[in-house]
Amino acid sequence: MSDKMIVIDDLSKWYGSFNVLKHCSTHVDRGEVVVVCGPSGSGKSTLIKCVNALEPFQEGKLFINDVPVHDPKTNLPKLRSQVGMVFQHFELFPHLNVTENLTLAQIKVLGRSKDEALARGLKMLDRVGLTAHKDKFPGQLSGGQQQRVAIARALCMDPHVMLFDEPTSALDPEMVGEVLDVMVDLAKEGMTMMVVTHEMGFARKVANRVIFMDQGEIVEDATKEDFFTQPKSDRAIQFLSKIL
Ligand code: ADP
Ligand code: MG
Repeated sequence: MSDKMIVIDDLSKWYGSFNVLKHCSTHVDRGEVVVVCGPSGSGKSTLIKCVNALEPFQEGKLFINDVPVHDPKTNLPKLRSQVGMVFQHFELFPHLNVTENLTLAQIKVLGRSKDEALARGLKMLDRVGLTAHKDKFPGQLSGGQQQRVAIARALCMDPHVMLFDEPTSALDPEMVGEVLDVMVDLAKEGMTMMVVTHEMGFARKVANRVIFMDQGEIVEDATKEDFFTQPKSDRAIQFLSKIL
C-alpha cells in the first residue's frame, strides 16, 4: 500500500467551455487530514467529486491508493466503495430506517450477509452515539443526527479515505459541534480525510494541511501552521480576514 492515499496531478476540468478546475495538484497521505477551503464557486465540491469519480475530468491524473481514476479501465464502482463520502445534505434514503440505511450498500455492493452488515452497522452507529435511534427513519432525526448516521453509513464500507463536502454547513448552529466531534475522533484514530469546510476551529484542531482554492485554482497548499500564520496570497489573506 502506498503512503500517498490521494494524488492529484495537474488536473483540469471544464463544464462545457467553463474551466472549473485549473491545473490542480496536491496529495493526501495515509492518515493525513487535509482541509479544503475557499470562496463559494471556487471549485471545492467539483474537486472532491473528481476524487470520488463522481465527476469526470478532461486533463491530468488522479490516483486513489495507487489506482488511476483517470484510466478508463479502472473499475469505478469498486473504487467508489472504498471512498467514503459525506455531503452537505445528508442524503440518507428517506424511506429506509437507520439500520437499513447502514446495511443496504454493505449487502448490495460488498456482498456481506445481512447479519454481518447489521453487526457492522450497529457498531458504527454506536461509534457516532446513536444506537438508541436504530429503528427511526431519517425524518424523525435532527439534522445533526442524520449527518452522524451518514458518517456511520460511510464508515460501514471500511473506506480507505473519507471525503466530506461542507458536512456542517446545512446544520443549525447548535448541531455543528456533535458532527465535528465525530469527525475529530475519526481524525485522531488515523482516518485519512479530505474535508471541505469553513470550520477553522476543526482545521486548527486536526488538519495536517490546508488547501485554499480560488477560481478553480489551488492557490495555497500549506501546513496548518503556515496557512494560519503566514498565508502567501492576498486572496487567502482576504478570505481568512472574513471568516476568522
Ligand atoms: P464550490 O464547492 O467551491 O462552491 P463548485 O465546485 O460547486 O464550487 O462550483 C465551481 C464552479 O463550477 C461554480 O462556478 C459553479 O457554478 C460551476 N458548476 C458546478 N457544477 C456545475 C455543472 N454541473 N455545470 C456547470 N457548471 C457547474
Ligand atoms: Mg461546494
